[in-house]
Amino acid sequence: MLYVLLILVVPVIVYGVFELNSLTKDEQELERIYERQLESVLFTINEHLQDKVSEVTTPLENWQSIVSAFESLKQYQFFRALYVEGIGNDYEQLASNRDHLSTIQFASQAKALVRDNAALISRLVRYKESSGFSKVEKGDENITRYAEDLDYFFLVIGTEGNYRVCLYFFNSVEFIEQTLVSKFQELAREDFILRCRKVNGGTLVYSTSLDMGGSVKSEPLDLLDNYTVEIARAGGTIADAVFKRKNQNLLALGLLLVVMLIGVLLVFRNTQKEMQLAQQKADFVSNVSHEIRTPLALINMFAETLSMDRVKSEEKKKEYYEIISKEVSRLLNLTNRILSFSKIEANKRIFDKADVNLNYLVNDVVNMYSYHLESNGFELEKEISEEQLVISADSEAIQEVLVNLIDNAMKYSDSERYIKIETGGDDNRVFVSVTDHGIGIPKDQQEKLFDKFYRVSTGDVHDTKGSGLGLTIVKHIIEAHEGTIDVKSTPGKGSTFRLNFKRIEHNG
Ligand code: ADP
Repeated sequence: MLYVLLILVVPVIVYGVFELNSLTKDEQELERIYERQLESVLFTINEHLQDKVSEVTTPLENWQSIVSAFESLKQYQFFRALYVEGIGNDYEQLASNRDHLSTIQFASQAKALVRDNAALISRLVRYKESSGFSKVEKGDENITRYAEDLDYFFLVIGTEGNYRVCLYFFNSVEFIEQTLVSKFQELAREDFILRCRKVNGGTLVYSTSLDMGGSVKSEPLDLLDNYTVEIARAGGTIADAVFKRKNQNLLALGLLLVVMLIGVLLVFRNTQKEMQLAQQKADFVSNVSHEIRTPLALINMFAETLSMDRVKSEEKKKEYYEIISKEVSRLLNLTNRILSFSKIEANKRIFDKADVNLNYLVNDVVNMYSYHLESNGFELEKEISEEQLVISADSEAIQEVLVNLIDNAMKYSDSERYIKIETGGDDNRVFVSVTDHGIGIPKDQQEKLFDKFYRVSTGDVHDTKGSGLGLTIVKHIIEAHEGTIDVKSTPGKGSTFRLNFKRIEHNG
């Protein structure tokens, strides 16, 4: 058993530990891949933002006049105003499609912004000089006009000696909504949740999903650093998914282990049963041989004595003939029992059922046996019900059952030789019971009595002769009659075997 356990269970446990360990490694690897994925999504968003900003500022680079620039800028709904100031000359223009931004006050506010950001502007000029390209930079602080927050980009245009600085005012929330949202949706699909939030105050600008579970990675946008993009995995974190997998694997492994253990136990129990059966078969052969040999030896001895004409007295001769006949009937009984059992084993026994009164069957058997019982010193008590106890039965088979029970009651009685046979019934059931005051049967063995070849071990199997088949035959016959058997027994006091049958309505 221990070996089987070791051979089957240890590999399962080793495999389980290995699986869980590799799952943890997979988790780390997945975590890394996921991190990279998040970074690339954020990178894509920033690139897209850059492209959009270039797209909306390109009209400025192809500068002809503020009027033509304004014409192309005003198509964007997030655009608010454009302020252009010459560097090193007095050029100064403001264009807006909002009345409150086309004022002198707003122009001077823009002028002040240029002044305050002189360092940034000279950096942009240097960049333009060296590369020929116009770089866009966002102003640090946004400004509020008429309850609207406005952000602005700085950009230097023009050619050497004639540089101009442009301030591009726009509504950043609208900008995000109109240029980034479609990109968010395209990137998020079903794998990610993407959100955009204001850094100050944390106001949510947009989110691809209502709930944002698991671990969230967040980064500010490059060109709009007062906004952050948050990204998370849809459907929980990687750790959650791996934890779920781990639990599922553990559960499957546990189940496998349980199934295997049950298998091992079943195999173990079966082998034990087989071994027991083999032992019982061996006992059966030895018992039966013994049972056949003893009567044969006796018959042989008495027949020889008789044939040699050594017995003179008629009385003695009669006694010897009786012994021979008794031994022959014992042999016949045994052979009948073995034949009956082998028929049962081969499923060839057929029962010829008819409605019979159980009392008649019992009376027949008792009459047949009463002389035998009395001559063996048994006191017989009969308590036969006065009612008709009709059952559907094969009379011969039920009589065989009764003979078996009476036989056992005789065989397993010591000094107190008493047998009681009782019949009775209620509305639905009828019964017949055989009680003895014999050696009784220990509780733990009572269930096994009906197993084939089973004999209660008394240390020496030859103590009382038997084949271990009687009760197996009894059980088979009773089950074929849809009846049941109860055993009540106390070691040293005696036993009662009670057969219960279904009652048949009878109107005679
Ligand atoms: P056997 O041929 O050994 O009697 P059975 O199948 O008839 O075989 O009975 C099985 C075992 O049950 C017997 O060996 C005996 O130990 C026990 N047994 C059966 N009937 C009785 C009884 N009336 N009293 C005590 N033990 C009994």
